[in-house]
Amino acid sequence: MKIVFATNNANKLSEIRLLLPEEIEVLSLQDINCFEELPETHPTIEQNALQKARYIFDNYGFNCFADDTGLEINSLGGEPGVYSARYAGDLCNAKDNINKVLFKLSGQQDRNANFRTIIALIINGKERIFEGRCEGFIANKTRGLAGFGYDPIFIPSGYKITFAQMSKNQKGKISHRGKAVAKLVDFLID
Ligand code: IMP
Repeated sequence: MKIVFATNNANKLSEIRLLLPEEIEVLSLQDINCFEELPETHPTIEQNALQKARYIFDNYGFNCFADDTGLEINSLGGEPGVYSARYAGDLCNAKDNINKVLFKLSGQQDRNANFRTIIALIINGKERIFEGRCEGFIANKTRGLAGFGYDPIFIPSGYKITFAQMSKNQKGKISHRGKAVAKLVDFLID
């Protein structure tokens, strides 16, 4: 089975390729000659995941899936949530976003947070949604060099290291994306 992963994020692509069985071949946007930014203009991660998948299905005609992810921090009322990518502003990078989170949490005792991934799948025009969550908390400072985004400050529950201190394999076994992909694979294999 061939399926397009509607993402411009190389880190997500390599994480997902590691999680899917050999019989499911994941095509990148480059493989289908799509070099555009995908629209993400909705107020929820569910809607944004669907929007990205629909963009590829409607414009390129491929069966596909898209992932939208948010970091939800308890004491910030669920922020950055759907605004995780641009939390520190439109031109910001991952380091700026992390610095904003650490600044807003300075002195805060409750550092509980979770990552939430929604995968939207479109096969022959039929849509399905799969969700994965990973509970944890926000570290006091960045630790580790692996991964991407907020990984250097996210410590999953039951661990003493951040996602950025884990291998891709280890992260995939417990992460929000790993859990959502496991549901996607169960569905596709069925
Ligand atoms: P999006 O799903 O591409 O919109 O990502 C939203 C934001 O969350 C971006 O800043 C990503 O870098 C970040 N992000 C998404 N997935 C992960 C992850 O697995 N670990 C850490 N940060 C992530």
